[in-house]
This record gives sequence, C-alpha cells and structure tokens, in this order.
Amino acid sequence: MIIRLATSSGFCFGVRRAIQMALDASKGRDIVYSIGELIHNPQFVGELEEQGIKVANDVTALQDSVVIIRSHGITRDELRILQANGNTIIDATCPYVSRTHELIQTAIQDGYEVFILGDAKHPEVIGMMSYGNLQTIVIAPGEIPTSLKGKRICLISQTTQQVENLKKLACDILDQVLELKVYNSICLATTQRQNASAALAKDSDLMIVIGGRKSSNTKMLASLCSQYCQTLHIETEDELTADSVLGKARIGLSAGASTPEDRIIKVYNKILKINGEEDLATSVHNIPLFKEESC
Ligand code: SF4
Repeated sequence: MIIRLATSSGFCFGVRRAIQMALDASKGRDIVYSIGELIHNPQFVGELEEQGIKVANDVTALQDSVVIIRSHGITRDELRILQANGNTIIDATCPYVSRTHELIQTAIQDGYEVFILGDAKHPEVIGMMSYGNLQTIVIAPGEIPTSLKGKRICLISQTTQQVENLKKLACDILDQVLELKVYNSICLATTQRQNASAALAKDSDLMIVIGGRKSSNTKMLASLCSQYCQTLHIETEDELTADSVLGKARIGLSAGASTPEDRIIKVYNKILKINGEEDLATSVHNIPLFKEESC
C-alpha cells in the first residue's frame, strides 16, 4: 500500500493568519469572540474554546467585547453594529476575501450588475452580497442565468470555487450580454490545492479528503477528486474503517484549508495501523508527498 499526501494540504495562509490573530488576541484576556466558527472544523473550534476563543453567532449580543472577524469576513451591517456597540474589532478577514468586497463596490460604481458565483448560504458569499446592490445575485455552479440582453455584467467568484465552473459560467452568458467583465477571484491557495489533489486523485485508487463537512473548499476538493477515483470525505480518523482502505494499493490524502495538521497525521496513522504497520508518523513531514511536474 502506498499512501501519499497532496501538496498544499491543510491550513491555508488566510486560516493560519486568522488563528494566529485570535490566539494573540486571547493572550491576557479571559474571553474573546469570533463571529461564527473561526474555521469550519468542529474539533479545532472546541480546542480554541478551551483557550478562551468563543463563537458568537449574534453580533447584536456583543457589547464592549473583543471580537475577531474570521477569514470569511462578515456583512457590512454586522460590522456597523459591532462598531456602534463599542467592541474592539480584530479584522482577520482574508485579504483575498476583502479584495472581492472592493471589486464588487468598484464594479457597481462603474455601472455593472454583479453576479457572484458561489454558494448563497456560505458566510463568505453572504458577506460579499452585502457589498452589492439590489441587482447583485448569487449564481450556483451549473446554473445559467437568462434575460441578460443588453446588460453589462461583472462576474466574480467565491474564493473557493473551481475555476472550471467560473470559465463555464462566463462562456454560458457571454453571447447574451452587452459587456462581460470577469474577475478570477479564486484564491491561489485554493487553485494550488485543487490542482495538487486532482493530480493525486488521477494516480490513486482511493482519495481521502479530510476536513469539516461545512467547509466549502473541502467539499469542493472531495467533489473534484471524485471525478477521478473513489473518494471519501471525512472529518476525523474515526470515520475510517478497515473495509474502506484494505485492498487499495494507492491511497491519496488531501485536506481542506481549515484542516489542522494533526488531523492529517491521525488519519495517516490510522491507515497504517489498519495495514498492520507500526512505524507511525509524528509530523506531517513524515508523510510522503505526491509531487507532479504540473503542480
Ligand atoms: S481559502 Fe483562500 S481566500 Fe479562503 S482563507 Fe484561505 S487563502 Fe483566504
């Protein structure tokens, strides 16, 4: 059995930055609040709680508190409410996400109708929408808007979408519109992770994608890998059974942008144990990486 890890797996720059900012803010304070879970990983969120970083879902309930805005960002109204209620705000919105807010506002000033490719229920997209206007809409992957004759459209993407979905949407509407401006706002970390995972999936009998079930980029990775081989999306090693891995000669591992390294190590070691091996990994650097020329 060969087990290999896709390059660029685990925490991305934006998530690392948000966690570090939260940990720094929690030093010397009993409690700080993050607006929503700091990352989409329930196990890790539990560990942060033990360090005084608590999840708050209702911004109106916070007054004179220390508040961290997670990497997904928040809505304009939520920001106004937090500011009005005397909170100290630590803004850990990922710069890639902040950029989408700026691009949306500029596109509207320039007279474009803004279409956001993404998941309308995802907090990042909800935040993006708040920088739009009444004409701003969210388009789910695979959806094709109609009645666009004579319109000037600006297309922008949730940062964790697949670039193929953005290309397809642009091509699908191009011949309907008067003018089309497209921003590839998919972040570099997402693109690198998707390319590396797809390359590994093409060379594997089974892909195991590790990450929260609510994590958009992890779900996207699992969907991408499943185009090339059998794929399991798991949150922890407890979900792995002997039946799921035995008999597979080449197993690929990949992890979402909000998956801590110790989760990856635990999954790797569980597979080794199922396979009767005793030389377990103590660091993610002990796990062989899959490297492909094009990655
Ligand atoms: S996935 Fe990309 S946009 Fe999202 S937090 Fe990470 S680096 Fe930022």
